[in-house]
Amino acid sequence: MSWRSPTSRAPRDRIKLRRADSRRHHRAMLLQELFAEGPASRADLARSSGLTRVTVSDLVAEMIAEGLLEELGAPAETRVGKPPTLVGLVPDAKHVVAIDLSVDDQVVGAVLTLAGEVVERDARPLEGRRGEDAAALVEEIATGLVERSSRPLLGVAVATPGVVSPEGVVLDAPNLGWHDLALAESLGASLDLPVYVANDANTAVMGEYTFGGGGEGGLLLLRLSTGVGAGLVVGGAVLHGNGGAAGEIGHVQVDPDGETCACGRPGCLETFVAVPRLRRRVAEGAADDVLRDAGVRLGQALAPVVATLNLGEVVLSGPADLVGSLAEHAEATVRDRVMPVSSAGFTVRVSTLGDDGVLIGATGVVLSGELGVS
Ligand SMILES: [Zn+2]
Repeated sequence: MSWRSPTSRAPRDRIKLRRADSRRHHRAMLLQELFAEGPASRADLARSSGLTRVTVSDLVAEMIAEGLLEELGAPAETRVGKPPTLVGLVPDAKHVVAIDLSVDDQVVGAVLTLAGEVVERDARPLEGRRGEDAAALVEEIATGLVERSSRPLLGVAVATPGVVSPEGVVLDAPNLGWHDLALAESLGASLDLPVYVANDANTAVMGEYTFGGGGEGGLLLLRLSTGVGAGLVVGGAVLHGNGGAAGEIGHVQVDPDGETCACGRPGCLETFVAVPRLRRRVAEGAADDVLRDAGVRLGQALAPVVATLNLGEVVLSGPADLVGSLAEHAEATVRDRVMPVSSAGFTVRVSTLGDDGVLIGATGVVLSGELGVS
């Protein structure tokens, strides 16, 4: 082989790649606009994206042919003259299969529309399955949901506790007995679909950012269940951190003399706000005092994070009877502990997505990966 051949071929390949990339990027810009702002005319899309009208018309025609977009006719109130035709996303054009492994001892799965609406569900007990057996159950449920979907599938996303690489390798999920498990690759091969595997808290924060409203000013989503996990979106992107373990605030020590945590150390934040411990304390004592104390501890742990990143909001996801009160006390504590410049416009609120937050977030992961929409 001539040493020249790769270099002489490379520029043309690069140009081709760049064209394909920019087309994909331009499609993503239009989809993003329609996803975030609702139906728009081609002229509006050209204005907001900065693309030429010819390019917009061409891309819109392509996406209408694919069934992703539809013509919606003219808006109800139009000025004099020929009214513009609006185009909008077809939420049911494609479906997404989502699997949530964050629920205690269960595998929960669903088929969702592109708008994050659940159309089919499945849930089965894990019954202590670990390692290969747990992976086999995930595959079985995913296969069943793929068969039940009535639309072409855009992709599959699995949300799991633990540390997951960007390539979808579960590096470490102790509760499931998964270590260096290439789950995205093996599921992708058996389902013949794009498969994404991500940490459950990162998936939930993606759901809150994409479907829950807000998050532009930086968002930390804290999931309270058996343990405590957090996901962060800053500048529109999920923050993974150096070793993929960003968001592990649950094991920050807040009381050196506190109860022993699942990780073996005393007084982690998790020992104050994990749901089983909260439930036990509420059963033992005055619920208001228990929730105030836990909310204050939570605010103490959050304050340096809020100040450092100048976060706009912290969103709590967990049992409805617990998280409202925690949010209120945590917000007051953060405000007490940071400068006004850090807390201006800052809120702690409860997630609006409810129990389906992770499944809806998994839809966001596939939308982002396949269509560039977030
Ligand atoms: Zn701990």
